Amino acid sequence: MHEMSLCESILQVLEEQAHTQQYRKVKTVWLEIGALSGVEVEALRFSFDVVTQGSIAEQATLEIIEVPGQAWCLPCACNVAVQQLYDLCPHCGSHQLQVNSGDQMRIKELEVE
Ligand SMILES: [Zn+2]
Repeated sequence: MHEMSLCESILQVLEEQAHTQQYRKVKTVWLEIGALSGVEVEALRFSFDVVTQGSIAEQATLEIIEVPGQAWCLPCACNVAVQQLYDLCPHCGSHQLQVNSGDQMRIKELEVE
């Protein structure tokens, strides 16, 4: 499952940061998930619980922040909202779109102790 490996890499980051920032417990994780990232939030929550068992993030709450998709349209020379990857420009119908927001997942903030 795609989400399972995502959670494993999240946990890896949390454990690395625990060393450098000297915390022992993660209380809350704010995750930004782009609308175009293909991540299923429910599957991600489930995987997070499984992966973090027995880890520093075992009791952690997962807060999901959904980031809308946005792309730069070359013909229009402006940013347009996109719902899915490979959507056409809603203004001119062009497919010359460069996605510049909403295709990634990242840890935005952590609450630790
Ligand atoms: Zn356009």
